[in-house]
Amino acid sequence: MLKEYKKESAFIQDLFLNIISIKILVKTFSMFIFVDGKNTSEAYSKTNNKFQHQMDLHEYQGKELLNSFGVRIQRGIVAQNAEEAVAAAKQLTEDTGTGWHVIKAQVHAGGRGKGGGVKLAKSLDEVKTIAEQIIGMDLVTPQTSAEGKRVHQVLVTEDVYYPGDSEPEEYYMSVLLNRANGRNMIMYSTEGGMDIETVAEETPHLIFNEEIDPATGILPFQARKIAFNLGLSGAAFKDMTKFVTSLYKAYSESDSSLFEINPVLKTSDDKIMAVDAKVSLDDNALFRHKDLAALRDLREENPVEVEAGEHGLNYVDLDGNVGCMVNGAGLAMATMDLIKQAGGEPANFLDVGGTADAARVEIAFELILRDPAVKAILINIFGGIVRCDRVAQGVIDAYKNMGNIEVPIIVRLQGTNADIAKELIDNSGLDVMSATEFQEAADKVQQVLG
Ligand code: GDP
Ligand code: MN
Repeated sequence: MLKEYKKESAFIQDLFLNIISIKILVKTFSMFIFVDGKNTSEAYSKTNNKFQHQMDLHEYQGKELLNSFGVRIQRGIVAQNAEEAVAAAKQLTEDTGTGWHVIKAQVHAGGRGKGGGVKLAKSLDEVKTIAEQIIGMDLVTPQTSAEGKRVHQVLVTEDVYYPGDSEPEEYYMSVLLNRANGRNMIMYSTEGGMDIETVAEETPHLIFNEEIDPATGILPFQARKIAFNLGLSGAAFKDMTKFVTSLYKAYSESDSSLFEINPVLKTSDDKIMAVDAKVSLDDNALFRHKDLAALRDLREENPVEVEAGEHGLNYVDLDGNVGCMVNGAGLAMATMDLIKQAGGEPANFLDVGGTADAARVEIAFELILRDPAVKAILINIFGGIVRCDRVAQGVIDAYKNMGNIEVPIIVRLQGTNADIAKELIDNSGLDVMSATEFQEAADKVQQVLG
């Protein structure tokens, strides 16, 4: 798989890296990110999400955002239970004339259709049974873990694949930032409705790419080119130029980092609309979009990660057995590699930041130890601004305060006052092992894991 990937042109690779870097949930793809780091790629991929600073919206929220910028969408009403779903369906029939409805699980993961989270209902009875079935289920898709994601609500939509003069057609479209040249990019394909990763692998020539200068925004000729490349004519062509133009405006003015509309639909009566919407906002810009910031759904996020965030700790939950506490993201990445080399698996990524005092170290300990899989903790701190002896004292104080830490702890402190720090640890009488060199720390991890 990797070999085939390497065979692709450099151009396509660039394109991929852009979309990969923001499509964090696509685990199958994450293995391509770092060629020799296949061990830690999932960790990189998950942590990358944090570095990208993005906030994902639900489909229904994304669609509302698009609609507010004049992008045509498949209309829908969100429902928390089966009764609300039936009421929503009745309302949609009144508003749109639709006879059939689609019930769509609202979770932050794609591929819902494949996992049974998107279903067509041909009567109100079916709306009720399907909604009952989907709400409360743990939806497993190619983009979730094996446990899946709990569905708390569904979007009831009009059916837009109705028969008519022409066949409905599905396209793919995303808007994202091309980091290589600082321009926005509209990536699109005639092959909608399926994974873009598959299209990219099997038929890369069917993926097009239009660069947009952020200073001018999308120009009319570019919108026409996109409609033309998608093989459209007549009313559908015209509607597509409108669609693309509004879509780009929505992306730009909402300070988003990714829009992915898959599928964009051409209905049998030549209307262009968004049937799905994956919207990721740039959370560095959320301060100027209070209304969008309020759309955050904490139920979709890992509760430990949310709690860590409240304490200013950058924490990402992973599946391994060695907890790590590090300052600085780069050192954290290197530490995860080290753990792998020592035969362990990182249980988490944790960047305690610049102020590793006792209080923060204690919170960090507590968060790490909540994971029953943790068999050892590796603390790897570089004392640049923060002094190593302060950190050491923090570790010792936290350890004493908590009292009941049963897993071995390896502490490597390097930098300012590292020697004093080592002495403090060694003389503390606690079950804490100190290490000076990176390799030494790795050896000790190996030793305690047995
Ligand atoms: P995803 O599986 O998470 O990407 O969810 P989507 O919103 O893309 O929906 C999955 C699939 O459901 C789409 O690719 C369509 O094939 C199908 N679908 C969505 N809306 C309708 C609809 O109105 N009518 C019909 N018949 N199928 C639909
Ligand atoms: Mn989709």
